[in-house]
Amino acid sequence: MAGRCPRCGVGKVFESDNPYNIVKMITTKKECSNCHLDFIPEIGFYWGATYVAYMITVAFSAITFGISTLIFGFMNTLSLWYVLVNGILLFLFCPIFFRFSRMLWLWVAHD
Ligand SMILES: [Zn+2]
Repeated sequence: MAGRCPRCGVGKVFESDNPYNIVKMITTKKECSNCHLDFIPEIGFYWGATYVAYMITVAFSAITFGISTLIFGFMNTLSLWYVLVNGILLFLFCPIFFRFSRMLWLWVAHD
């Protein structure tokens, strides 16, 4: 994922390019290195990104539910197995969803 500045498209928003870098996966830079856009305009700015992450999680689960229903049938999808597998997938994709929701929030909410 690019994770570039929403204004100039050059500066990087996150410290590390790798979303699975455990130490720096959530470290967001204070400002753009190119155009000096403030990436943290106010305290709690990224609180709104949690709602974006929630919507992504629900949408992802709806898609996996649909795929599981197509392959295994509706009644088999209503099982603990689906919950378990979907939970593992959500856990694995968590760093990507985290960054995507922060980027989306930065694009939408930054003035
Ligand atoms: Zn910039």
